[in-house]
Amino acid sequence: MPDTRPRRTFAVISHPDAGKSTLTEALALHARVINEAGAVHGKGDRRATVSDWMAMEKARGISITSAALQFTYRDHVVNLVDTPGHSDFSEDTYRVLSAVDSAVMLVDAGKGLEPQTLKLFRVCALRGIPVITVINKWDRPGLSALELMDLIQQKINLRPTPLTWPVGEAGDFRGVLDRRTGDFVKYTRTAGGATRAPERRLAADEVGDDDRHLWEAAAEEHELLTLDDADHDQERFLAGETTPVMFASALQNFGVAQLLDLLLDLAPDPGATTGVDGSVREVSDEFSAFVFKVQSGMNRAHRDRLAYARVVSGTFERGMVVTHASTGKPFATKFAQAVFGRDTTVVETAEPGDIIGFVNAQSLRVGDTVYVGDAIEYPPVPSFAPEHFVTATAGDISRYKQFRRGIEQLDQEGVVQVLRSDLRGDQSPVLAAVGPMQFEVVEDRMVNEFNSPIRFSPLNYQVARITDAAGAAALAGMRGVEVLQRSDGTPMALFVDEWRAKVTARDNPEIMLEALPAGGS
Ligand code: GDP
Repeated sequence: MPDTRPRRTFAVISHPDAGKSTLTEALALHARVINEAGAVHGKGDRRATVSDWMAMEKARGISITSAALQFTYRDHVVNLVDTPGHSDFSEDTYRVLSAVDSAVMLVDAGKGLEPQTLKLFRVCALRGIPVITVINKWDRPGLSALELMDLIQQKINLRPTPLTWPVGEAGDFRGVLDRRTGDFVKYTRTAGGATRAPERRLAADEVGDDDRHLWEAAAEEHELLTLDDADHDQERFLAGETTPVMFASALQNFGVAQLLDLLLDLAPDPGATTGVDGSVREVSDEFSAFVFKVQSGMNRAHRDRLAYARVVSGTFERGMVVTHASTGKPFATKFAQAVFGRDTTVVETAEPGDIIGFVNAQSLRVGDTVYVGDAIEYPPVPSFAPEHFVTATAGDISRYKQFRRGIEQLDQEGVVQVLRSDLRGDQSPVLAAVGPMQFEVVEDRMVNEFNSPIRFSPLNYQVARITDAAGAAALAGMRGVEVLQRSDGTPMALFVDEWRAKVTARDNPEIMLEALPAGGS
């Protein structure tokens, strides 16, 4: 039986420490987590919750890998796709955003729009993903609500359309005025914030004397916002021109139910998706999905490999035999899992918008499509411009075989891009990354998973451009540039700096030199 409940699939984008883990946990508390068994761990240790399966993540208290948390709320199924939260960048973060229909931009009220938030926002904008803004930590002193609205307008050029407006400023928070209903949602501090705090809603004439003065100020600002064209407009929101804004304290569980309500009311449903040949798959068509992340090494006892896919159309049923679009070969989905952090449960069915993990899917790569029925292939998950380059060699030459296998695997998973050339040979491929932490992940996994120590030496390149065979031939021997090949065969020209890339392009207009979307800077 297909599960016909509507879906919401979203990610939270934020700078480290803005409160993403706290919010995720609060959302899980408010909602009913599907696959309840073991879904939220470590009640005493609030950090050890969502997606900390790699030892390294634990050691650093960061999440590097991505998982999806699935829960129900108001008879909707909500999929929260986790984004890595470390301050450095990896391509992973960007890929996750190809699997969601909307994003929640979490902003620390004291800090405003921080660099990582801006980078992630740009990826959302590039992909046309509508963004809801949550101003967090409103229980503490911070910037004023109006200052924050100005920052949003200036820094990301979206019109902020507050759906709630604070009564009392950051640090003296009394609650919010719900601009959709005119109610006062009163803020009550709970001890530790670990319990689900009921949100008390009062009509305007029920506001107590204590809060009356601040309430009236908020009501006045609310009217000014309306005059200033800052009311929510669903069409403009979906078109990426505006961002609805709300004020919250994730730690105190304030605003969490409001956020869920907004997601259900405003965020888009999973929609029809266009394949590379222009054909369109409606959500009600036969099953299809695309892989946005591949991961192994979650469980060292068994050599597991999970390919995470977002269902695009149709109902997935476990055991289905699907076609792998890039090879045309059948793929039996005997073992498919719903994924939440370390815990996986066998999934029997999944619907468009859901995330499933295919177990031991050796042939599936990031960007691959699987389908049933009429052939479909979705556009590749975008890759971003690498800005960090090293050569890698086996730290122990007697383990060269393990080294080669590990590098190949990590390349397929998209942990780093592996570049090769005849000149350099196979012994020391070039690794290219958007953020340098990708190299640390490679090192960790090469040692722990593939039993091959690895050595890096930095390369003096900063800029990569895509070229073609003719370009590769023309560039060979030029100064300040080296051409290597990605594993998909695409030649990539590496330049010592932006200036050299520009001059080369200017002096050789016949050479194809195409920039990838910027990620790291
Ligand atoms: P992440 O790095 O974005 O996942 O951030 P965390 O959820 O780990 O939060 C970072 C810190 O901010 C922690 O000490 C949290 O307790 C704290 N924090 C998160 N949300 C709030 C909030 O709404 N109010 C206050 N005062 N602190 C918060």
